[in-house]
Formats: sequence, C-alpha cells, structure tokens
Amino acid sequence: MGRKLDLSGLTDDEAKHVLKVVQRDMKLRKKEEERLSEMKQELAEEGSRCSILSKQHRFNEHCCIRCCAPFTFLLNPKRQCLDCQFNVCKTCCTYSKRDKAWLCSACQKGRLVSFYTFTCKPAVEMREQ
Ligand SMILES: [Zn+2]
Ligand SMILES: [Zn+2]
Repeated sequence: MGRKLDLSGLTDDEAKHVLKVVQRDMKLRKKEEERLSEMKQELAEEGSRCSILSKQHRFNEHCCIRCCAPFTFLLNPKRQCLDCQFNVCKTCCTYSKRDKAWLCSACQKGRLVSFYTFTCKPAVEMREQ
C-alpha cells in the first residue's frame, strides 16, 4: 500500500471533515490561480494598449496613458509613474509612501502579481507542512 490519504482510522464524521478541508483548500488555490492568470491577462492587454498609445505623437504629454483623460492644470495634473515612467492622471495612480513616488494602477497590479507569484505560493506550501 502506498501512502495515500488513509481515512480508515477515522469515524465517518471525521473523514468527511478532512475531505471538506482538503477540497476547500484545493478550491481556494484554484481560485487564487484563476485570479492570478486573469490579472496577468489584464496586464498583457494593458501593456499592448499602452504601447500603441505611447507611439501616438505626444499622446502621453496631454492625456493619461491608463484612462485617456486629458490633463488639466490644477484639476487633473499629470503625475509620472515610478515603474513605467508614463504620465498618469490622479485617479489612475496612488502615492506609495515606501517608494516616496507615484505608482499607476497597472504597475500596482503588476507588483501584486509578482508578489503573488513569488511570495504567496511558497507561503501556502509552508502552511501545509
Ligand atoms: Zn487616468
Ligand atoms: Zn506605471
């Protein structure tokens, strides 16, 4: 006999409970992976859209690279994203206190994706041991 999940020593209720926990864990992980690939897809789309826009003559000097809103003095000032160096409007970026700079929504998502990819996965595996 291989070392499979042996539930024979458990009562019915205990076995059911173990199965439920295992299934829930698998479901959660699947959801995380789905969300991650969704975000990667969104980022890829955003990346190609952004590269098309940036080729337009001086587009980014006048409009936000993320939402295409025109910059206006005072009302909608342009801010440069630390990671991608594009100009974005105030609704498309947030201030990162750690970096002391502005980060656009796409780059934030990008950071989140790499955080998930490199940090969360090992953490999930460690929890199981
Ligand atoms: Zn914008
Ligand atoms: Zn950016």
